[in-house]
Amino acid sequence: MEQIKKHLEQLKKKLNQWSKEYYTLDSPTVDDLEYDLVMQELKKIENEHPELITNDSPTQKVGHTISDKFEKVAHKIPMLSLADVFSWEEVENFNNQIAKQTKTLNNAYYAELKIDGLSISLNYENGKLITATTRGDGVVGENVINNVKTIKSIPWTIPDQNHIEVRGEIFFLKKEFEKINNEKLLNQEPLFANPRNAAAGTIRQLDSSIVASRNLDAFLYYYFSWNDNKKIHTQQDALLEIEKQGLKVNKEGRLCNNLEELKAYIDEYTNKRDDLDYEIDGIVIKLNDFNLYDKIGYTAKTPKWAIAYKFPAEIKETKLLDIFPSV
Ligand code: NAD
Repeated sequence: MEQIKKHLEQLKKKLNQWSKEYYTLDSPTVDDLEYDLVMQELKKIENEHPELITNDSPTQKVGHTISDKFEKVAHKIPMLSLADVFSWEEVENFNNQIAKQTKTLNNAYYAELKIDGLSISLNYENGKLITATTRGDGVVGENVINNVKTIKSIPWTIPDQNHIEVRGEIFFLKKEFEKINNEKLLNQEPLFANPRNAAAGTIRQLDSSIVASRNLDAFLYYYFSWNDNKKIHTQQDALLEIEKQGLKVNKEGRLCNNLEELKAYIDEYTNKRDDLDYEIDGIVIKLNDFNLYDKIGYTAKTPKWAIAYKFPAEIKETKLLDIFPSV
């Protein structure tokens, strides 16, 4: 047992260090595959020895500590992560869990591409954008509104006059990422490791003119009205409402009425993945019907009504990255 505890501490230390580099410093030193494998090992040990799970374990925490560079804003609703699955069998297990509440195996899921960027929470009041906050540690994020206001696909005003929260993902198109790294190469500056790292590093720039000079983009997928949420009962409705308010939605998402349709969607986008203009690292599967969300519930880190089906991470090492260390 002492040996298991020692091994567990080593895994937690490693993951905490990598999380700090990835989330707080925007400077990852290992690829996602390595991080995910160590995380899976930690989860396996914790499943076998639940008495060893502590609140500070990386399996229980969202993100990492946030910097003091920006104003801190508490999220009105926690910004959680998503539970990962890596096989179709695990998707079926997820559906079995959902079926315990819905009493049917034929559940409708909204399948969306898992955009490999960073999440943002936009708050609008009286039709005006008042905060734009990073996920941070899930409870408190950084208000990066001045930088977000430079993103053309995020409107400063929307028609809805209620207090609205919209969440989504900020990202770079692959071609924009290449352009930025080419410029960095010419200037002999350290390169960004990947588009996600570039987006995270850019949105947390103190100089908004640098952000404005790079074409960040955003897809939104979550809509909540503090005064009038009665009309939105499904993820499909939420996406329609987001579009109605003039915000950008990823058009590849699809309502899947059963597991067959869901499997076809996953297979289709596993094949199409490299043809997309932006990077995705999986498929997000959300129960379409909101009415069951509270009953199905949440863990400290994730909702139980959605999962992320992750593609195997690709290891992309280029000669350029060997020449210049990533930032
Ligand atoms: P996650 O990225 O696996 O999944 C949750 C996130 O998915 C959400 O917060 C949201 O931002 C995003 N998302 C994208 N598209 C979405 C959509 N359509 N609907 C809903 N959400 C969507 O979880 P995480 O906790 O943000 O990060 C964990 C992952 O980050 C790890 O699995 C690993 O791949 C990576 N990571 C890497 C390192 C490293 O050093 N390389 C360190 C820490 C984390």
